Amino acid sequence: MSATIIDGKAVAAALRATVAARVATLDFQPGLAVVLVGDDPASTVYVRNKDRAAAAAGIAARTIRLPADTTQAALLAQVGALNADDTVDGILVQLPLPPGIDPRAVIEAIDPAKDVDGFHPINVGRLADGLPTLAPCTPTGVMRLLAAAGISPRGARALVIGRSSIVGKPMAALLLAADATVTIAHSRTRDLPGECRRAEIVIAATGRPEMVRADWIAPGATVIDVGINRLADGRLAGDVAFEECRAVAGAITPVPGGVGPMTIACLLENTLTAAIARRGVPPAGD
Ligand code: NDP
Repeated sequence: MSATIIDGKAVAAALRATVAARVATLDFQPGLAVVLVGDDPASTVYVRNKDRAAAAAGIAARTIRLPADTTQAALLAQVGALNADDTVDGILVQLPLPPGIDPRAVIEAIDPAKDVDGFHPINVGRLADGLPTLAPCTPTGVMRLLAAAGISPRGARALVIGRSSIVGKPMAALLLAADATVTIAHSRTRDLPGECRRAEIVIAATGRPEMVRADWIAPGATVIDVGINRLADGRLAGDVAFEECRAVAGAITPVPGGVGPMTIACLLENTLTAAIARRGVPPAGD
């Protein structure tokens, strides 16, 4: 058996088109402000891609570039100005931040109604409580991929490997909200291969290249690979040994071209959601 490959590029393109179509019906232009401190090369590329995707969806994207020696006070003042700017619906401060700036303080300064990354404690709490909220983009993207592939988490045993605040924990919360039976594994988990073999849906988010092996996967299971790892030879690899696992899994995401493209598409969707909620526009179809 060879797994169905879940095409993240196609699902992301469809979601971006849906967002663009909805934006086109609005009598205002949603605004997204991205704050980039310093010149981390990966962040610079990522921010440029966000700008392009936002513009293509009809969202007014603005990038505020601050020097690497920006103080925390200056960054907090910038966030405050964006909170007060009525043309800005979404604020994203690109992580990681340079040493000397506490990312928690910055995240907590963002107006929760404009927190399109879904990292503010109010939005984290709402998600944990199963309430509608701005949820983090990467795990939301995974949920969209599962839906597009026709894989329902309801009642399924789902294993999330990784417990970070940006992927693992919100991923588990979203799966729970979708009625999965969720287990969260991490570096101290005693029998990770055994936990994996019991799962019908495996989400790998560890940053350990090709850690998940074929003999960890139950035949027919769904395997979603969040990992993006640059190998010594320059290749990109996920957290899953793709070639061997695809022979066992029922459905699997590739790296690149799986979860990666969904993150920006879900950022656009969150910006639209925030804009509609802030400006009191009725939901689509009303
Ligand atoms: P973090 O480093 O913050 O978290 C990694 C998690 O994996 C931790 O909870 C850690 O456990 C766990 N872990 C590490 N090693 C093992 C192991 N050997 N066995 C079991 N668990 C382990 O990473 P992120 O959550 O930020 O990112 C995870 C991956 O996803 C990375 O490859 C990253 O590049 C990628 N990513 C991709 C995105 C996308 O758009 N597709 C967006 C964000 C991230 P512990 O808590 O015990 O230390």
